[in-house]
Formats: sequence, C-alpha cells, structure tokens
Amino acid sequence: MRIAHLLTARLPVLRAMQRSYGLDVSAALLRTRGYVDGQWISAASDFPVLDPATGEEVARVSDCGPGEAMRAVDAAHRAFHGWKQRTGKERGAILRRWFELMVQNKDELATLITVECGKPLAEAAGEVSYSASFLEWFSEEARRTYGDVVPSPGRDRRILLLKQPVGVASLITPWNFPSAMITRKAAAALAAGCTVVVKPAEDTPLSALALAELAAQAGVPAGVFNVVPCSKEKTPSVGEVLCTDPLVQKISFTGSTATGKVLLKLAADTVKRVSMELGGHAPFIVFDSADVDRAVASAMASKFRNSGQTCVCGNRFLVQSGIHDCFVEKLAVAMDKELRLGHGLDPTTTQGPLINARAVEKVEKQVLDAVARGARVVRGGRRLQGSFMEPTLLEGVTMEMLCTQEETFGPVLPVIRFDSEEEALAIANASAVGLAGYFFSQDPGQLWRVAEALEVGMVGVNEGLLSCPEGLFGGVKQSGQGREGSKYGIDEYLEVKYVCWGGLGP
Ligand code: NAD
Repeated sequence: MRIAHLLTARLPVLRAMQRSYGLDVSAALLRTRGYVDGQWISAASDFPVLDPATGEEVARVSDCGPGEAMRAVDAAHRAFHGWKQRTGKERGAILRRWFELMVQNKDELATLITVECGKPLAEAAGEVSYSASFLEWFSEEARRTYGDVVPSPGRDRRILLLKQPVGVASLITPWNFPSAMITRKAAAALAAGCTVVVKPAEDTPLSALALAELAAQAGVPAGVFNVVPCSKEKTPSVGEVLCTDPLVQKISFTGSTATGKVLLKLAADTVKRVSMELGGHAPFIVFDSADVDRAVASAMASKFRNSGQTCVCGNRFLVQSGIHDCFVEKLAVAMDKELRLGHGLDPTTTQGPLINARAVEKVEKQVLDAVARGARVVRGGRRLQGSFMEPTLLEGVTMEMLCTQEETFGPVLPVIRFDSEEEALAIANASAVGLAGYFFSQDPGQLWRVAEALEVGMVGVNEGLLSCPEGLFGGVKQSGQGREGSKYGIDEYLEVKYVCWGGLGP
C-alpha cells in the first residue's frame, strides 16, 4: 500500500502496527482536530481513540464541547445561504469529486476504519466503496429534485409544488460503519442544498475527519460540512446543542433505539424534522424448500460481517424442522472453514474484535443465559482475551432466552426450530423493532406471502446482503423513521413548498 508522509510522533502505536503489516496512512488523512468553517480547530482537551483489538491508544482527538458545536452550527447556517443558491449540477460536481477522492484514497481510508473500529481490512475496503457510492449516487440525484405543476381547480390559478432544502442538518452517527453512516446522510443533505454538522461516534472519529479532509480537497465550501468529534463524557452536551439549537432544522441519527428516543425528545421543543435509523433484531427464516447451501452462505455473510455488529445482521435464525439438522450441520462446517479471529490489519483475519469490553460482556451474557435455559453450544461460546468473542452457534434456542429478545450486536447465531409458516411469522413479528428481515424458500406463493407479512423496512428474499445506494435503507416500528439511499433518501432533506399563482385570467 502507498503512503505519503507518516505522522509518526503523534501515533506511535498506529505506526508500529502499520509497519508490521506494511500499511501506512498519510498525514493529510490522519486528522485529529475538529473541522469547523473550513478550519481545523483544537479544543480545551482531547480524548483517546483506542484500537479495539489491542486496547492501545492510536491517536488523541480534540474533545469538542458545546462551544465548538455552536460554532459549527453557526458556520453551517452562514454557509447554507450560499450553498443552496448553487445549482444541483454544481453541487453534484463537487460531490462527484469527493467520491473520486475517496476511491483514490481507498486503502488509507480502509486502514483508518480497521484501526479504530476493528473490522478486517477487506471489509473496511468494502465499507469505503459503499461509503463512496453514496457520494456518487447523490451527485447524480442532486439534479433531480423535481417539483410538480398540478392541475388547478380554478381557471385563473396555477399550482406549483417546489422542493427546497430544509436548512442546517445535524448528523449523529455510530461506530460500526464509521464512514458509510456519514456519507449516506451527508451526500443526500449536500445534494439537496443543506449544510451539515457531523458528530461521529466517540470510538471512531478518525474516519469522519478524513472525510472532512477529502471534502475540502473536493471543493466543498467552508461551513458546508463540519465535524465535531467528542468523548463519551461530552456527548450529551454536544448532542443537546445539535438537537435543540434553533438554527438547526433537521436531525438525522443512526444508532441505538434508546439514544434515538432521547434525541427525539430533545428535537420536540423546536419541532425539528427527524430521521431515525435505529436498532434491529432481524429474523432470518429458512423454510423446508430452501436451497440450503445458499441459506448457509447467506447466514455466514449476514451474521459474521463486522463480527455481527451490523444493524441489519440476522439476529434470530428460524429454521423449519425438515431442514433444521442439515442447516445446522453445514453452518458449523462453514464456520470452521471460513472464520479466523485476529487483528483486522492481518490479511488472514475474517473476524475482528468487538468494539469494546462492554460489547463483549453483553454478548457473553446472552450466551450464558441461553445455555442456562437449555440451549446447546454447537460452536464457540467463549469470551476470549480483550474484546474478542468466539463465533458462536447455538441450537435449541427458545423465545424465553435473552438472545431472542434483544439485539445481540456480536457473533452469536441462535437457531430456533419451527414447524409452520404461521409459527415462523408470529415469532418473526413479535418484536418492537423492524429493520431488516430475511427468508429462504423456493415456494412461489410463500415468497409473496412472507415478503408482504414481515413487519420490517427491508426484506432479503433468498439474499443475506441488501445494502446498496440504489435500494433504500430504513425501518418500521421502533427501528426508526425516514429512509436513506435510493431516490427517496434526498427527500429527508427537502421541504415541499406550495406556490399558488393567482390572477391569471378571467
Ligand atoms: P449509540 O446510540 O450508543 O450511539 C450512536 C451515536 O449517538 C454515537 O455518535 C453516540 O456518541 C451518540 N450519542 C449517544 N448518546 C447521545 C446523546 N445523549 N446525544 C447525542 N448523541 C448521543 O449506538 P452505537 O452503539 O454507536 O451503535 C449501535 C446501534 O446502532 C445498534 O443498535 C445498531 O442497530 C444501530 N445502527 C442502526 C443502523 C441503521 O441504519 N438503522 C445502522 C448502524 C447501526
């Protein structure tokens, strides 16, 4: 991998790791200060970014507080007036340059993701491509914010419906996709003519700051894209500014349902527009007629990507009695063959660590609870050193167990046996959240019935990986509101204004 200058003194551990794996990140992309109004800004203190695989500090980043957040909102508000005046074509051209810069810097961006979030390098490179694809997609959509000319009920009037940008948007994002969760929002917002303030997760600010650097290189004007990194301690006060400042018109959040509810309450006082991409608890149903090899391969991809730390990963595996034993047996073989734990920078690793000790504790608790209630551990089951957890396959799982009641966010695959389609749907829909759902079948009637009956925002039919910019992303029930990606994603950042044009005739 190619390198410009290494930022050595500040990042000794990162440097050592990069040396041992032959990787480098240029000084230009290793940013450790906030980015406000086109300037890199320091704060009164800084906070550590840890490598989740080793627990070692890889960087210290400016710990922005409410003051920096207010500065960022002010800058975004000032920049809004100029940015919205540009044509969609002009905004699209800048987003396109940003996309191209991400592609050119893919290896370095992937290294940053692996170092701060732990996912294996190949997956991190996949995230960079996915992340960049939203800049590409919305660079094209920027020219298509069509309004309507509507037939009028009166001869002397004309009715126009115009789409206009909402204003300043606060974007609050999680650590599990440190780059893609930002561009999925920011690309749509900037294409629409909005300006943004990003608050990245405390565990993963480096990817957000690298995106800011590339935005500047692409020609995104000062104040249009701002980033205020902060520690866990400062998060509530920064979040309060971003969700209550009257200059902010829109909040887009991706993260847990619990935090989403806090932010919705904060948004209420000033009646802000909100988009919420919240937690999931995806059912993954394998019916007797399924192509079992396809179901097993899809289960592997869905469950073990990012060590099970994705909001759309299968969380409850419902397998019909006739195919149950064959599915479990083949899955165990695939796990033995394909999964290898290690540091994400090691090219042979397929399973990195979980993000931190709290995450592993939650997963371990679910496994111990399942075993205490009668589940059988087919593979794995143990917590390892640091933040690592063995990929785990459980069978004999029942609805009383914790792992069927809450999102796992870890590499545990619990198998629940069922007999009928009605039973599977009842279990699948018995959840307060509904983000993604998957099922495997070759019965045409069942394909339609189940796709329509699942109470989720996204359905994978004989498919375990759904995400792409052309398709939409979003959930129902307590998985949130609003949609990202697709032709609908830009609407989250647009108001529709009614213009009634009168006095036009007799
Ligand atoms: P989290 O809710 O703990 O944190 C998400 C973000 O919110 C972080 O930036 C965090 O600092 C911030 N935050 C926390 N408290 C805040 C407050 N009081 N004010 C302002 N900001 C605050 O979630 P997480 O653990 O980082 O992410 C995992 C969760 O995200 C899972 O539940 C997962 O399902 C969900 N997720 C959803 C999607 C989706 O598109 N629906 C995508 C990825 C992750």
